[in-house]
Amino acid sequence: MTQLKRDSNNSVLVDIKNLKKYFTISGGFLSGKHRILKAVDDINLTVHKGETLGLVGESGCGKTTLGRMIARLETPTEGIITINGEDITEYRGRTLKAFRKKVQLIFQDPYSSLNPRMSAGAIIGEPFGIHGLAKGRDKTESVAHLMERVGLTREQMGRYPHEFSGGQRQRIGIARALSVSPDLIIADEPVSALDVSIQAQILNLLKDLQGEFGLTYLFISHDLSVVGHMSDRIAVMYLGKIVELGDKKKILTHPQHPYTRSLLAAVPIPNPFLTRKDQPLSDDIPSPVNPPSGCPFHPRCPYKMAICEEREPGLELRDEQQLVSCHRKS
Ligand code: ATP
Repeated sequence: MTQLKRDSNNSVLVDIKNLKKYFTISGGFLSGKHRILKAVDDINLTVHKGETLGLVGESGCGKTTLGRMIARLETPTEGIITINGEDITEYRGRTLKAFRKKVQLIFQDPYSSLNPRMSAGAIIGEPFGIHGLAKGRDKTESVAHLMERVGLTREQMGRYPHEFSGGQRQRIGIARALSVSPDLIIADEPVSALDVSIQAQILNLLKDLQGEFGLTYLFISHDLSVVGHMSDRIAVMYLGKIVELGDKKKILTHPQHPYTRSLLAAVPIPNPFLTRKDQPLSDDIPSPVNPPSGCPFHPRCPYKMAICEEREPGLELRDEQQLVSCHRKS
């Protein structure tokens, strides 16, 4: 359903079908009952080779869980993930270990994701050892080359994470992700913890590297302006579901889903397509343990109609470039 028409030479790298991740959580000391939290709830999505697919939504809507399932750091509750035509959903043991190098993650907080007791060189070089790719002088040279490519120097190889700035630590994380020539890089809020002045440098580095190495990115952020800057297509996520998906330009200039419109209203760039009804969201996202009936966005939606409380809309093609899940056809 979510396969939007694209050029025929854009082949599919990741194909996700009906993907779900439900967590069982304790009901608390008093109730004792277990409850189900639907972190990712029936998602269909494709990522094409060489593109950046942006995944945007408020905190808690399931972006990280979706990314972790694609990297098989989480096992799906249901559904199928195919990468390069191979079903990776059930991978275990050695097959899973070999798969790990194909999907690399870049995290929000490079300080907590880098081992403080390992030097930059050891951190970047570690995947070479784990996957038996290089050793000795070859490995050292490859690490030095990667460091230079991400804007560090080979002289910094022996330094430890605390001796680098936040932006430099993110460069180490990027070099480590690149070391195994992955098919897909999942960048999960890669600049959210950085100063605004550094954010653009890291985003531009990611773009340059994509051009040079033909990388494919799943770029996760709560910030639609950052996602807009980086992405070719954008998927908007709300309470575990994709509510709008399409070409970046369409999503930014002609957003259809009221949730996307609210996210855009929070971006300080005037958008003539938005109306006075479209306001930044001020209340909290409802709990995925007890999601609203019908359309999960209806309690916060300025365009709500009677049907929205009763029936959940499906993702529908609005034009060639946009899928929207909303009862209001505008
Ligand atoms: P953030 O940007 O804050 O990380 P997100 O959109 O990435 O938000 P997730 O981290 O995927 O969202 O979380 C989605 C939902 O799943 C949240 O309600 C979260 O509390 C819950 N969740 C995530 N991991 C677990 C877990 N291991 N056990 C129970 N609940 C979890």
